Order: sequence, then structure tokens, then C-alpha cells
Amino acid sequence: MTKEELREFFTDLGEKPFRADQVFSWLHVKKCTSFDEMTNLSKALREKLQDLAEIPHLEIADLQVSRLDGTRKYLLSLSDGNVIESVLMRYKFGNSVCVSSQVGCRMGCRFCASTIGGIVRNLTASEILDEVYMIERDTGESVTHVVVMGSGEPFDNYDEVVRFIRLLNDPDGHNLSRRNVTVSTCGLPDRIRAFADEDVSSELALSLHAPDDETRKKLMPIAEKYPLSEVLEACDYYFEKTGRRITYEYACVKDVNSDVRSAEKLGRLLHGRNALVNLIPVNNVAERNYEKPESEALAAFQNALAKYGINATIRREMGADIQGACGQLRRSFLKNGRKGAMTE
Ligand code: SF4
Repeated sequence: MTKEELREFFTDLGEKPFRADQVFSWLHVKKCTSFDEMTNLSKALREKLQDLAEIPHLEIADLQVSRLDGTRKYLLSLSDGNVIESVLMRYKFGNSVCVSSQVGCRMGCRFCASTIGGIVRNLTASEILDEVYMIERDTGESVTHVVVMGSGEPFDNYDEVVRFIRLLNDPDGHNLSRRNVTVSTCGLPDRIRAFADEDVSSELALSLHAPDDETRKKLMPIAEKYPLSEVLEACDYYFEKTGRRITYEYACVKDVNSDVRSAEKLGRLLHGRNALVNLIPVNNVAERNYEKPESEALAAFQNALAKYGINATIRREMGADIQGACGQLRRSFLKNGRKGAMTE
């Protein structure tokens, strides 16, 4: 519930609305997981809340910690037994958590392990929030950046993702700056426009992955539905409305989209836009036949883009010694039916 919804809830219970502020702070500042911890509420009220409400929280089913850079990859179980992944990455600028927004995904991107079993269900805003809070509880460190880039297409679960961002931004709650939240979408034009019209103006990343429709269709079935021109127009609208520069994610797959000709096409496509291209050497996924390009090929791609005035970064691989790619930990868990094996 938002603070306003909580106030209504307490008023309906015949309680003073300030109780809502107390409970909001217990939930989103102290990140407690039970009503018993809320010691400034009377025992009677705590018992009433226990009967009427619940605080959903996630449990750690598996954890892998990189010896190289301290990246922590969590497999978290939900109250209905489903599992999702979240990742904590430690950078110089702070702690970034990559959250999932759905159990599985129905978008079918060919380089992605999350979509292999299709979608199971959407996550609620509370469940997405608890991915962040649970990691804070586990590490005792605060999370300064959030990327909605794990399993699932965030705009396929639009309302809950927007609610999640509002709760995360609340100045009386976790109070994370909108600039420190990035939503990554495979490109649903109507939802990008709707998101531009919300007052949440987070950072937006588009999974572009190809310089033309033909190549994009080979990698992303969603490209059959929405041509690039439509998706890019929606991104331009987002930039106009929010002033936020769009990041274009580009998963580099050897022999598919990573040669200099593709870079030149991409340069022409994005030329004149305030764009940052993030080149992501694709992760090897056992079920897929894709390989990452050599580092020389990536550097040549980056240089070719620079000639069109497009800035590109090459994503540093985090947690290379653990199952870092989105969806891989969950897949091996589902395959092996393994539980509780922690690797630290
Ligand atoms: S890359 Fe994202 S949108 Fe595409 S299938 Fe994977 S989780 Fe879904």
C-alpha cells in the first residue's frame, strides 16, 4: 500500500491516520518483516494487524557469491513456492540491485534463459520491493541503485512496476532517487509512452540488440509486432517528456549482430539522438547456440559507433565465475530440484 492507502486503511479500522506513517516507516525504513517488531503500536493493534494483513517477504533458496568481485546472486522463493533471481553488484558508485519483475517471461528473446519456460506469473509490487529489502537485510548494506532488468518484461507488469517505483522513491520510505532507478524494456511502444506520462521519470533502457528489423526479429520475437521505427519514436517521446537520455542495450552475439557493418547501421539509426549504447557481450546459455564476440571485435564496434557521434560503453562482466546470466540460476534450480545449496 502507498502511504495514502495505508492512511485510509487505518481510518477504516477506526485508528488515527498517523498510525499509517508509523507502519510505513517500520516497513520501508526499518524493513521489518513482522508486526511484532512494531513496538510503538499497542499489542492489541499489532494482533489486529496480524489477523487482517500480511507482510510478504522472500526467503533465500540459494546464494552464489563471486570470488572475483563480490557479486551476490540470489535465488529467492516466494510464498507460493515459485523462485526468482535478484543480483547485488558492488560498484565504486554504490550497491546496485537487479530485480526481477515476473516469474519467467513471455517475450521469448532468443539469447535469454529467463524465457525458456515461458511466464508463470507477475510479481506484486511488494514482492519486487522485498527483493531490494531482503538483500539489505542479508548484507546489512544499503542499496543505492536499482535496475529492473532481471527476469520478466517490466512493462508487461506495468501497474505493479510503477507502484514499486513510487514506493521505492517515497521520501518517507526507502527514498531512492528516481535517477537511480532504471527500467529496462524490450520495447512496448504504448507502455513506454504511458511511462513517460507518469510522474516517476526513472531512467529508461531499451533492449535494442539489432540495427534493423530483420536482424532484430531473429533475436526478439517482439520485433514482429513492433517495428523499430515505432519503438524509437516512443523512446524519443520519453526523452522529450522527461529529459532523460535513453540507454540502448545491445547484446553482442558473434556472427549475428556484432560486425562493423552492423555498428555503422546502428550509428546511422541513432545518429542525432541523445543516446548511450551499452554493448553487452552475450552470456553463453547452454540451451542456446550463441557465443560472445572477441574483445577486438567489440572495440571495433565501439569505434565505428564513435564515428557517428554515438557514445558506447562495453559492459564489464560482473560475477563471471558464478551463473551470472539472467535466468540461469533459476533454470538449474528447476532442472535439478536443488534447494538451499549456498556457495560462498
Ligand atoms: S531479455 Fe528480458 S524481455 Fe527478453 S525474454 Fe529475457 S527477461 Fe524477457
